[in-house]
Amino acid sequence: MENKKQLNVYENVCRQFNQAADRMNLDFEIRKILSKTMNEISVNFPVKMDDGRIEMFTGYRVQHNNVLGPFKGGLRFHPAVDIHEVRALATWMTWKSAIMDIPFGGAKGGIQFDPRKYSRNELERITRRFTFALGCNIGPEYDIPAPDVNTNAQIMAWMLDTYASTMPAHVRQACTHVVTGKPVEAGGSIGRDKATGQGVVFTIVQWAKDTRFDLNGATYSVQGFGNVGSWASRLLKSYGATLIAVEDATGAIQSNDGLDPDILTSYVNDTGGVKDFPGSKKVEHAEFFTTSVDIFIPAALENQITAATAPGLNVKLIAEGANGPTDPDGDRILQEKGINVLPDILCNAGGVIVSYFEWLQNKRSEFWDLVEVDGKLYKKIISGYHRVRETAQEFKMDWRTAAYIVALRRLEKVYKDRGIFP
Ligand code: NAD
Repeated sequence: MENKKQLNVYENVCRQFNQAADRMNLDFEIRKILSKTMNEISVNFPVKMDDGRIEMFTGYRVQHNNVLGPFKGGLRFHPAVDIHEVRALATWMTWKSAIMDIPFGGAKGGIQFDPRKYSRNELERITRRFTFALGCNIGPEYDIPAPDVNTNAQIMAWMLDTYASTMPAHVRQACTHVVTGKPVEAGGSIGRDKATGQGVVFTIVQWAKDTRFDLNGATYSVQGFGNVGSWASRLLKSYGATLIAVEDATGAIQSNDGLDPDILTSYVNDTGGVKDFPGSKKVEHAEFFTTSVDIFIPAALENQITAATAPGLNVKLIAEGANGPTDPDGDRILQEKGINVLPDILCNAGGVIVSYFEWLQNKRSEFWDLVEVDGKLYKKIISGYHRVRETAQEFKMDWRTAAYIVALRRLEKVYKDRGIFP
């Protein structure tokens, strides 16, 4: 995978936004509001390393919009994190919540560093100092972080503990919903771990129904085998589809006989990546991208499907588990080639939907079972799917622009109803 960014990813968001705003004639004044982020917090903070040294870190939290509800979005630990990336990811979160009709706004955050180079104790101190540095810029009714690339339930537990510890004793119990994606025992929701991959698979299954495509016997490839990629792979297997190729940060592998996603998940948990998975052959990045499969699930980073890679893709459907995997040039080529796309702000919304369920359960001191969580997730994401499909038919356009229009219509209506203070 190309590690350096070809384009400033925020420019992609602006191009997508302007295209949709033009097509739907978005109110000129509301367009001005939505084309900017509301708040951009940047913090530099010191952390004590295991050997006694102090290291300085830079972290971000960008809050794009909260007209529909509290800011909501993940936190990423990665060397490529910068203000442009976080701005883009925050903006996509606003659209995602609006499409899914959940009462959240959009935000995103991250720390620019490679967590693989730090011990567990150092990661804990980095997480806690970042949470402390953010202070009241996050809060259970204000801005609610969640896991993203290289962050997980453990990181969320440390964030919750740090945030609550800085609050007066009598309000600490009311802080559980300051983050979502927590361990179940610490107030997390059953089903949150798999929620994004589950949502990806629910939308693929619906697409297959609509296009009369038989998933039994279908083939798929996945880029990124972390939370989203591994769950989507495992869940798709149960429909009779075969995983042919996988790429992650350690390399790319392929097997025409199929890779077992359950065994591969255990292998990745043990070894840290897909490299040298028994029974697979190593392939180069370019070969991975041109592998012929029915469904490709990008579930790693942004700007992967571009003018350079899109021409070689030999697939029927791209189901975007990652945020922003396709840039506008890549999108144009996919349309020319007639490849269907389930766009990120629809396809990977399962994470924020179940985060919303976790937030509700915490507020009400409830615990829902998996049947309830999955049933409600299915209903929400498939309603969003239908809204996007109907809008694409109404405007005779691609699904990404249609998804934007669903979101922008909702936001436009709320701004018109509420007006602008003062
Ligand atoms: P993760 O950290 O669990 O996994 C990331 C995967 O990407 C790993 O397999 C890693 O090896 C791979 N990767 C990293 N750099 C790579 C490179 N240079 N080449 C190839 N692969 C590389 O992260 P995740 O939570 O699964 O998130 C993956 C994507 O899904 C991101 O775009 C994220 O924003 C998006 N997403 C995540 C959630 C969620 O709930 N976790 C929700 C919505 C969207």
